[in-house]
Amino acid sequence: MINRKLLMGMVGGGPNAFIGAVHRMAATLDGRIELVCGAFSRTRNKSIEMGKKLFLPPERVYGSYREMFRNEAKLPEGKRMDFVTIATPNNMHYPIAMAALEAGFHVVCDKPLATSMEEALNLAKKVKSTKLLFCLTHNYTGYPLVKEARRIVTDGKIGKVRRVVVEYPQGWLATRIEAKGQKQALWRTDPKQAGISCCMGDIGTHCHNLAEYITGSEIVEVCADITTFVKGRLLDDDGSVLIRFKNGAHGVIWASQIAVGEENGLKIRVYGETGSLEWAQEEPNSLIVRWANKPMEILRTGTSFLSPAASINTRLPSGHPEGFIEAFANIYRNFALALTRRIQGIKIREEDYDYPNIHDGVRGMAFLSAVVKSSAARQWVNVSTEETN
Ligand code: NAD
Repeated sequence: MINRKLLMGMVGGGPNAFIGAVHRMAATLDGRIELVCGAFSRTRNKSIEMGKKLFLPPERVYGSYREMFRNEAKLPEGKRMDFVTIATPNNMHYPIAMAALEAGFHVVCDKPLATSMEEALNLAKKVKSTKLLFCLTHNYTGYPLVKEARRIVTDGKIGKVRRVVVEYPQGWLATRIEAKGQKQALWRTDPKQAGISCCMGDIGTHCHNLAEYITGSEIVEVCADITTFVKGRLLDDDGSVLIRFKNGAHGVIWASQIAVGEENGLKIRVYGETGSLEWAQEEPNSLIVRWANKPMEILRTGTSFLSPAASINTRLPSGHPEGFIEAFANIYRNFALALTRRIQGIKIREEDYDYPNIHDGVRGMAFLSAVVKSSAARQWVNVSTEETN
């Protein structure tokens, strides 16, 4: 029985980092989680600087993740961290997640899961053998209206799905800002830190995850054309992918970081036999549903017409806009509910696992590997979760 907040440690999210701060806000939004320790940066000094900003006790701020796992494991239950959040560049996800699982800690990890299929499958094996919980922050599935879209599609309301179109244009890498030392661009365009892809790994994997989540079907084949438009850059900054789903649907994913003027334009459209859906991340509180034989509907977050899945993941009455942080917080809240039950020894029901997990990570990695392979070979490639590269 636990009668306390869940205790969180963090690796990454140091001074001037982007997503680490979002993780901290999201994790603590509902009062179920408290940050108790961290190894926030590659260097001890920067980790200490961050620990001070967060008012953490100095003895719980570490110079490396290994030191943190070693020391935290020695503390009694209720004092030591229950789980660790990993918010570092991609190449560090695997070693940190593996070390955390080996030390007995549950894991929340940012995407993409790893930098190769071999790493992804090793992690999946480790999660299975340790029976620890693993959450991958594909945060866009945390939005109430994304959950509503999934319910509409999987309940068959728009009929058999025929076509899925996902686009994710950004413009921030339209010039070579990494050459000027821009922190987030530096590692994303460096194959040693980002892995086999920049644009497709960074945002194409969100498109992949969103498409599989809403349709409830897996993408099994891809035909990709990825490009590096900015001279001197070592990884892709734009790409389009034809996709085929297990359930027979076809579709397109377009992800770009050179789409000048675009901010964070993730948008998905799903066309069934009798209706279609449209949801856009920059207007997340509306879901457009179009019908073959009646006028279109605009569903709104917080209204009483939505399913329990959407309502449970909404905090405010309609008309009070919820956004990125709240959707991110839904991933944490649902993970926290599952972890609390696990610690209490209560059997976890299927619906309590409403957050992206290790299998989503393996599928994302398989998608990414297939995209890179397909583009190089200029042909269709199967998305296989067995392959190694
Ligand atoms: P960032 O460069 O802003 O921050 C990375 C942080 O990790 C830095 O503070 C750096 O010092 C720290 N770090 C690096 N190696 C470390 C190590 N060995 N030990 C401890 N700390 C270390 O990067 P970012 O934009 O915040 O991205 C971080 C991760 O989050 C990436 O995997 C990225 O793909 C993912 N991300 C996800 C989303 C999302 O919407 N889910 C958005 C942005 C980034």
